[in-house]
Amino acid sequence: MTRPTLSIVVPCYNEEACLEQLHARLSAAAGAVAPGAYEIILVNDGSRDRTWTIMQALAAADPRLVAINLSRNHGHQLALTAGLDLCAGERILIIDADLQDPPELLPDMMAEMDRQQADVVYAVRRARAGETAFKLGSAKLFYRVLSRLAEIEIPVDTGDFRLMSRRALDALLALPEQARFIRGMVAWIGFRQVPIVYDRAERLAGETKYPLAKMIRFALDAVTGFSTAPLRFASHIGLWLVAASALLLAYIAIGFFTGTAIQGWTSLMLVVVILGAVQMFVLGMIGEYLGRLYMESKRRPLYIVAEIAGRAEGAARLGH
Ligand code: UDP
Ligand code: MG
Repeated sequence: MTRPTLSIVVPCYNEEACLEQLHARLSAAAGAVAPGAYEIILVNDGSRDRTWTIMQALAAADPRLVAINLSRNHGHQLALTAGLDLCAGERILIIDADLQDPPELLPDMMAEMDRQQADVVYAVRRARAGETAFKLGSAKLFYRVLSRLAEIEIPVDTGDFRLMSRRALDALLALPEQARFIRGMVAWIGFRQVPIVYDRAERLAGETKYPLAKMIRFALDAVTGFSTAPLRFASHIGLWLVAASALLLAYIAIGFFTGTAIQGWTSLMLVVVILGAVQMFVLGMIGEYLGRLYMESKRRPLYIVAEIAGRAEGAARLGH
Protein backbone atom coordinates (compact mmCIF):
# COMPACT_ATOMS: atom_id res chain seq x y z
CA MET A 1 0.00 0.00 0.00
CA THR A 2 1.40 3.43 -0.88
CA ARG A 3 1.10 5.86 1.95
CA PRO A 4 -0.90 9.05 1.53
CA THR A 5 1.17 12.18 2.11
CA LEU A 6 -1.13 13.32 4.87
CA SER A 7 -3.64 11.77 7.26
CA ILE A 8 -6.00 13.92 9.27
CA VAL A 9 -7.38 12.21 12.36
CA VAL A 10 -10.46 13.54 14.13
CA PRO A 11 -12.18 12.06 17.21
CA CYS A 12 -15.90 12.89 17.19
CA TYR A 13 -18.44 12.56 19.97
CA ASN A 14 -21.93 13.96 19.36
CA GLU A 15 -20.64 16.33 16.70
CA GLU A 16 -23.51 16.08 14.18
CA ALA A 17 -23.71 19.85 13.87
CA CYS A 18 -20.01 20.23 13.02
CA LEU A 19 -19.26 17.38 10.66
CA GLU A 20 -20.22 18.84 7.30
CA GLN A 21 -18.37 22.07 7.78
CA LEU A 22 -15.47 20.15 9.32
CA HIS A 23 -15.25 17.95 6.25
CA ALA A 24 -15.38 20.93 3.89
CA ARG A 25 -12.69 22.89 5.70
CA LEU A 26 -10.42 19.89 6.21
CA SER A 27 -10.72 18.94 2.54
CA ALA A 28 -9.86 22.48 1.46
CA ALA A 29 -6.86 22.70 3.78
CA ALA A 30 -5.57 19.23 2.91
CA GLY A 31 -6.22 19.73 -0.80
CA ALA A 32 -4.00 22.80 -0.70
CA VAL A 33 -0.97 21.04 0.79
CA ALA A 34 -1.37 17.48 -0.50
CA PRO A 35 -3.65 17.51 -3.54
CA GLY A 36 -5.15 14.09 -4.09
CA ALA A 37 -2.79 12.50 -1.59
CA TYR A 38 -4.48 12.88 1.74
CA GLU A 39 -6.98 10.91 3.81
CA ILE A 40 -9.37 12.11 6.47
CA ILE A 41 -10.09 9.68 9.29
CA LEU A 42 -13.17 10.45 11.35
CA VAL A 43 -13.65 8.35 14.47
CA ASN A 44 -17.14 8.13 15.90
CA ASP A 45 -16.69 7.67 19.64
CA GLY A 46 -20.07 6.10 20.42
CA SER A 47 -22.08 9.24 19.71
CA ARG A 48 -25.74 9.28 20.65
CA ASP A 49 -26.75 11.70 17.91
CA ARG A 50 -26.59 11.38 14.10
CA THR A 51 -22.80 11.61 13.94
CA TRP A 52 -22.32 8.11 12.52
CA THR A 53 -25.09 8.44 9.94
CA ILE A 54 -23.57 11.68 8.68
CA MET A 55 -20.10 10.15 8.64
CA GLN A 56 -21.30 7.26 6.52
CA ALA A 57 -22.92 9.64 4.05
CA LEU A 58 -19.73 11.70 3.86
CA ALA A 59 -17.62 8.57 3.38
CA ALA A 60 -19.90 7.38 0.58
CA ALA A 61 -19.49 10.70 -1.24
CA ASP A 62 -15.78 11.31 -0.64
CA PRO A 63 -13.28 8.59 -1.52
CA ARG A 64 -10.64 10.32 0.64
CA LEU A 65 -12.63 9.84 3.80
CA VAL A 66 -12.54 6.85 6.16
CA ALA A 67 -15.09 6.69 8.96
CA ILE A 68 -14.48 4.45 11.95
CA ASN A 69 -17.28 3.51 14.30
CA LEU A 70 -16.22 2.48 17.79
CA SER A 71 -18.38 0.00 19.65
CA ARG A 72 -19.21 2.54 22.38
CA ASN A 73 -17.91 5.77 23.89
CA HIS A 74 -14.28 5.06 24.76
CA GLY A 75 -13.29 8.65 25.52
CA HIS A 76 -11.46 11.31 23.58
CA GLN A 77 -7.93 9.95 23.96
CA LEU A 78 -8.81 6.39 23.03
CA ALA A 79 -10.94 7.46 20.07
CA LEU A 80 -7.97 9.45 18.89
CA THR A 81 -5.72 6.42 19.39
CA ALA A 82 -8.06 4.32 17.22
CA GLY A 83 -7.77 6.85 14.40
CA LEU A 84 -4.00 7.08 14.78
CA ASP A 85 -3.66 3.29 14.72
CA LEU A 86 -5.59 3.05 11.48
CA CYS A 87 -4.23 6.03 9.59
CA ALA A 88 -1.53 5.47 6.99
CA GLY A 89 -0.12 8.90 6.13
CA GLU A 90 3.50 10.05 5.98
CA ARG A 91 2.43 12.97 8.12
CA ILE A 92 -0.44 13.03 10.53
CA LEU A 93 -2.55 15.97 11.65
CA ILE A 94 -4.56 15.61 14.85
CA ILE A 95 -7.46 18.02 15.18
CA ASP A 96 -10.72 18.40 17.14
CA ALA A 97 -14.07 18.03 15.40
CA ASP A 98 -15.54 21.29 16.65
CA LEU A 99 -13.25 23.50 14.52
CA GLN A 100 -11.85 25.27 17.54
CA ASP A 101 -8.52 24.49 15.96
CA PRO A 102 -8.35 26.09 12.51
CA PRO A 103 -7.53 23.62 9.70
CA GLU A 104 -6.20 26.66 7.82
CA LEU A 105 -3.10 26.47 10.03
CA LEU A 106 -2.09 23.27 8.22
CA PRO A 107 0.06 24.88 5.46
CA ASP A 108 2.00 26.81 8.11
CA MET A 109 2.48 23.63 10.14
CA MET A 110 3.73 21.73 7.10
CA ALA A 111 6.10 24.56 6.21
CA GLU A 112 7.36 24.76 9.79
CA MET A 113 7.98 21.01 9.85
CA ASP A 114 10.05 21.27 6.67
CA ARG A 115 11.88 24.40 7.71
CA GLN A 116 12.81 23.18 11.18
CA GLN A 117 13.28 19.55 10.20
CA ALA A 118 10.92 18.75 13.03
CA ASP A 119 9.06 15.53 13.81
CA VAL A 120 6.28 17.28 15.69
CA VAL A 121 4.78 20.74 15.21
CA TYR A 122 2.44 21.40 18.12
CA ALA A 123 0.00 24.27 18.24
CA VAL A 124 0.14 26.52 21.28
CA ARG A 125 -2.99 28.45 22.19
CA ARG A 126 -2.36 32.17 22.48
CA ALA A 127 -5.97 33.20 22.98
CA ARG A 128 -9.04 31.08 23.56
CA ALA A 129 -12.38 32.51 22.47
CA GLY A 130 -15.72 31.54 23.90
CA GLU A 131 -14.54 29.55 26.92
CA THR A 132 -15.86 30.04 30.42
CA ALA A 133 -13.65 31.77 32.97
CA PHE A 134 -13.59 28.50 34.88
CA LYS A 135 -12.33 26.52 31.89
CA LEU A 136 -9.66 29.12 31.14
CA GLY A 137 -8.52 29.32 34.76
CA SER A 138 -8.53 25.59 35.40
CA ALA A 139 -6.72 24.87 32.14
CA LYS A 140 -4.07 27.46 32.89
CA LEU A 141 -3.57 26.11 36.39
CA PHE A 142 -3.57 22.51 35.17
CA TYR A 143 -0.84 23.01 32.56
CA ARG A 144 1.35 24.84 35.04
CA VAL A 145 0.96 22.36 37.88
CA LEU A 146 1.55 19.54 35.44
CA SER A 147 4.72 21.08 34.07
CA ARG A 148 6.05 21.40 37.63
CA LEU A 149 5.20 17.83 38.54
CA ALA A 150 5.95 16.00 35.31
CA GLU A 151 9.29 14.32 34.93
CA ILE A 152 9.47 15.38 31.30
CA GLU A 153 8.83 18.75 29.73
CA ILE A 154 5.23 18.93 28.53
CA PRO A 155 4.47 22.14 26.61
CA VAL A 156 1.92 24.39 28.36
CA ASP A 157 -1.36 25.56 26.77
CA THR A 158 -1.09 22.91 24.09
CA GLY A 159 -3.87 20.52 23.13
CA ASP A 160 -3.72 17.57 20.81
CA PHE A 161 -3.79 19.82 17.72
CA ARG A 162 -0.45 18.97 16.10
CA LEU A 163 1.29 17.66 13.01
CA MET A 164 3.47 14.57 13.41
CA SER A 165 5.86 12.65 11.21
CA ARG A 166 5.33 8.96 10.60
CA ARG A 167 8.31 7.97 12.74
CA ALA A 168 7.03 10.12 15.63
CA LEU A 169 3.59 8.53 15.32
CA ASP A 170 5.04 5.02 15.22
CA ALA A 171 6.99 5.81 18.38
CA LEU A 172 3.81 7.10 20.02
CA LEU A 173 1.82 4.04 19.04
CA ALA A 174 4.46 1.81 20.63
CA LEU A 175 3.41 3.14 24.06
CA PRO A 176 0.88 0.62 25.31
CA GLU A 177 -0.78 2.36 28.26
CA GLN A 178 -4.54 2.43 28.79
CA ALA A 179 -4.64 5.74 30.64
CA ARG A 180 -3.56 7.87 27.73
CA PHE A 181 -2.63 11.52 27.96
CA ILE A 182 -1.55 11.84 24.38
CA ARG A 183 -0.07 15.34 24.44
CA GLY A 184 2.24 14.19 27.25
CA MET A 185 3.08 10.93 25.52
CA VAL A 186 4.09 12.83 22.40
CA ALA A 187 6.39 15.00 24.51
CA TRP A 188 7.85 11.84 26.03
CA ILE A 189 8.91 10.30 22.71
CA GLY A 190 11.36 13.11 22.04
CA PHE A 191 12.68 13.98 18.55
CA ARG A 192 12.60 17.57 17.43
CA GLN A 193 9.34 19.21 18.47
CA VAL A 194 8.57 22.83 17.69
CA PRO A 195 5.66 25.11 18.63
CA ILE A 196 3.47 27.20 16.39
CA VAL A 197 1.19 29.80 17.97
CA TYR A 198 -2.47 30.26 17.13
CA ASP A 199 -5.70 31.74 18.45
CA ARG A 200 -8.25 29.17 19.46
CA ALA A 201 -11.72 29.84 18.11
CA GLU A 202 -15.08 29.20 19.69
CA ARG A 203 -16.72 25.83 19.26
CA LEU A 204 -18.61 25.82 15.95
CA ALA A 205 -21.74 24.22 17.39
CA GLY A 206 -22.89 22.08 20.26
CA GLU A 207 -21.30 22.17 23.68
CA THR A 208 -18.08 20.91 25.23
CA LYS A 209 -17.77 17.14 25.57
CA TYR A 210 -15.59 17.66 28.63
CA PRO A 211 -17.83 18.15 31.65
CA LEU A 212 -16.12 18.63 35.02
CA ALA A 213 -15.93 14.93 35.89
CA LYS A 214 -14.18 14.12 32.61
CA MET A 215 -11.85 17.05 33.07
CA ILE A 216 -10.80 15.81 36.51
CA ARG A 217 -10.22 12.32 35.22
CA PHE A 218 -8.20 13.69 32.32
CA ALA A 219 -6.09 15.76 34.73
CA LEU A 220 -5.51 12.74 37.00
CA ASP A 221 -4.48 10.61 34.02
CA ALA A 222 -2.02 13.32 33.10
CA VAL A 223 -0.49 13.64 36.55
CA THR A 224 -0.37 9.94 37.38
CA GLY A 225 0.90 9.14 33.90
CA PHE A 226 3.84 11.49 34.07
CA SER A 227 4.76 11.94 37.69
CA THR A 228 5.14 10.00 40.90
CA ALA A 229 5.54 13.23 42.87
CA PRO A 230 2.14 12.81 44.58
CA LEU A 231 3.36 9.51 46.00
CA ARG A 232 6.45 11.14 47.43
CA PHE A 233 4.20 13.81 48.89
CA ALA A 234 3.08 11.22 51.46
CA SER A 235 6.58 10.67 52.73
CA HIS A 236 7.21 14.41 52.87
CA ILE A 237 4.12 14.94 55.00
CA GLY A 238 5.19 12.00 57.12
CA LEU A 239 8.59 13.58 57.78
CA TRP A 240 7.10 16.94 58.72
CA LEU A 241 4.67 15.23 61.06
CA VAL A 242 7.51 13.36 62.75
CA ALA A 243 9.24 16.68 63.38
CA ALA A 244 6.01 18.25 64.64
CA SER A 245 5.28 15.34 66.94
CA ALA A 246 8.79 15.52 68.45
CA LEU A 247 8.06 19.12 69.44
CA LEU A 248 4.65 18.14 70.75
CA LEU A 249 6.20 15.32 72.75
CA ALA A 250 8.63 17.73 74.40
CA TYR A 251 5.74 20.05 75.22
CA ILE A 252 3.72 17.23 76.73
CA ALA A 253 6.72 16.01 78.78
CA ILE A 254 7.22 19.49 80.20
CA GLY A 255 3.55 19.64 81.12
CA PHE A 256 3.77 16.21 82.74
CA PHE A 257 6.81 16.98 84.89
CA THR A 258 5.72 20.44 85.93
CA GLY A 259 2.22 19.22 86.70
CA THR A 260 0.58 21.77 84.38
CA ALA A 261 -0.88 19.22 81.94
CA ILE A 262 -4.27 20.42 80.70
CA GLN A 263 -7.30 18.40 79.70
CA GLY A 264 -6.89 19.14 76.02
CA TRP A 265 -10.06 17.86 74.30
CA THR A 266 -9.81 20.58 71.67
CA SER A 267 -6.20 19.95 70.73
CA LEU A 268 -6.76 16.21 70.75
CA MET A 269 -9.72 16.47 68.39
CA LEU A 270 -7.76 18.82 66.17
CA VAL A 271 -4.89 16.38 65.83
CA VAL A 272 -7.21 13.44 65.21
CA VAL A 273 -9.22 15.27 62.56
CA ILE A 274 -6.20 16.70 60.76
CA LEU A 275 -4.32 13.42 60.77
CA GLY A 276 -7.43 11.55 59.65
CA ALA A 277 -7.88 13.93 56.73
CA VAL A 278 -4.24 13.75 55.71
CA GLN A 279 -4.30 9.97 55.86
CA MET A 280 -7.45 9.72 53.76
CA PHE A 281 -6.03 12.12 51.21
CA VAL A 282 -2.77 10.24 50.92
CA LEU A 283 -4.60 6.93 50.77
CA GLY A 284 -6.79 8.29 47.97
CA MET A 285 -3.72 9.36 46.06
CA ILE A 286 -2.14 5.96 46.40
CA GLY A 287 -5.49 4.56 45.27
CA GLU A 288 -5.35 6.63 42.07
CA TYR A 289 -2.08 4.98 41.15
CA LEU A 290 -3.10 1.55 42.34
CA GLY A 291 -6.37 1.66 40.39
CA ARG A 292 -4.51 2.56 37.23
CA LEU A 293 -1.96 -0.16 37.88
CA TYR A 294 -4.84 -2.61 38.17
CA MET A 295 -6.50 -1.43 34.96
CA GLU A 296 -3.20 -1.59 33.09
CA SER A 297 -2.55 -5.10 34.40
CA LYS A 298 -5.68 -6.39 32.66
CA ARG A 299 -4.10 -5.61 29.31
CA ARG A 300 -7.39 -5.11 27.57
CA PRO A 301 -7.46 -3.73 24.04
CA LEU A 302 -7.61 0.07 24.09
CA TYR A 303 -10.82 0.26 22.05
CA ILE A 304 -13.13 -1.90 19.97
CA VAL A 305 -13.95 -1.03 16.36
CA ALA A 306 -17.49 -1.91 15.31
CA GLU A 307 -17.24 -1.02 11.63
CA ILE A 308 -15.40 1.04 9.08
CA ALA A 309 -16.94 2.95 6.20
CA GLY A 310 -15.23 4.32 3.12
CA ARG A 311 -12.17 3.41 1.09
CA ALA A 312 -11.54 -0.23 0.44
CA GLU A 313 -8.21 0.11 2.22
CA GLY A 314 -10.04 1.40 5.26
CA ALA A 315 -11.95 -1.82 5.53
CA ALA A 316 -8.83 -3.86 4.87
CA ARG A 317 -7.06 -2.14 7.75
CA LEU A 318 -9.57 -3.52 10.20
CA GLY A 319 -7.71 -6.79 9.70
CA HIS A 320 -4.52 -5.68 11.37
N1 UDP B 1 -14.42 13.72 22.14
C1 UDP B 1 -14.47 12.34 21.91
N2 UDP B 1 -14.93 11.52 22.93
C2 UDP B 1 -15.33 12.01 24.13
C3 UDP B 1 -15.23 13.41 24.36
C4 UDP B 1 -14.76 14.24 23.34
O1 UDP B 1 -14.13 11.86 20.84
O2 UDP B 1 -15.74 11.24 24.99
C5 UDP B 1 -13.91 14.60 21.06
C6 UDP B 1 -14.84 15.74 20.67
O3 UDP B 1 -15.80 15.34 19.72
C7 UDP B 1 -13.87 16.76 20.11
C8 UDP B 1 -12.61 16.53 20.97
O4 UDP B 1 -12.74 15.23 21.52
O5 UDP B 1 -13.55 16.52 18.77
C9 UDP B 1 -12.43 17.57 22.05
O6 UDP B 1 -13.62 17.68 22.82
P1 UDP B 1 -14.27 19.10 23.16
O7 UDP B 1 -14.12 20.02 21.99
O8 UDP B 1 -15.65 18.90 23.66
O9 UDP B 1 -13.31 19.58 24.35
P2 UDP B 1 -12.96 21.10 24.72
O10 UDP B 1 -12.50 21.76 23.46
O11 UDP B 1 -14.22 21.70 25.24
O12 UDP B 1 -11.90 20.97 25.76
MG1 MG C 1 -13.53 21.85 21.73
